[in-house]
Amino acid sequence: MIKITDTHSHYDDNAFDSDRYELLDNLLAGKCEKIVTLGCDIEKSSTSLLIAEKYDNVFAAVGVHPENCSDVNEKTYLEDLKKLAAHPKTAAIGEIGLDFHWEPFDREKQIRFFRSQLDLARELDLPVCIHSRDSTKDMLDILRETKPNGVLHCFSGSIEVAREILSFGMMISFTGLITFRNAKKAIEACRFIPIDRIMLETDAPYMAPVPHRGERNDSGLLIHTAEKLAEIKGLTVEETVRICNENAERFFRFNKN
Ligand SMILES: [Zn+2]
Ligand SMILES: [Zn+2]
Repeated sequence: MIKITDTHSHYDDNAFDSDRYELLDNLLAGKCEKIVTLGCDIEKSSTSLLIAEKYDNVFAAVGVHPENCSDVNEKTYLEDLKKLAAHPKTAAIGEIGLDFHWEPFDREKQIRFFRSQLDLARELDLPVCIHSRDSTKDMLDILRETKPNGVLHCFSGSIEVAREILSFGMMISFTGLITFRNAKKAIEACRFIPIDRIMLETDAPYMAPVPHRGERNDSGLLIHTAEKLAEIKGLTVEETVRICNENAERFFRFNKN
């Protein structure tokens, strides 16, 4: 059986309340190599660590998502994250970034949170998992300046954006989005990006690949995204998964502690 590393998921999500541990038991006994579960605020980051503590092959990322920065205490969140990041199962700072999709949003505040968490990751020598929606210009300006050891997740951008991200030394990860019929631009970008710079992710419970689009996503469905990536790259599924798993090992340095 092919075992895939899922580099971006949210197993703290309420969507998993009824079967979280049963599901993870099954995934790790079969279809999954390793799983990274990301927090989106302080509380969810702690929960992600509690989940990671239960399994050798589940790791957490801790961070404040741009959509959550108005719900956390700006005076204390960096200290809180620093404490969570000291945990041996913390593999990255994330999910952090910019999201200007839903009105109203506080652009300046999001940028402040994003920059301070990029600084924290650098200080702690941890990689960062970055989210960007409807914020390409601000995102590229900040990444060009900071060049983090990071991954831009759920990539849906153009070849031009991918080229810039790669020039900063960063990784790019793909969700089930590349299996969607209307994903032409992302597929063109995917074809352009060298396979050694690509990671696979679910963003579970969201972004389920075809033929499960719209359903609750989990790491067991990542094979559909891997198959699509293999087709785009003209590789076998086994080879594609092997390379993406190795990329994830190199990027997260699991078990470094
Ligand atoms: Zn995201
Ligand atoms: Zn996410």
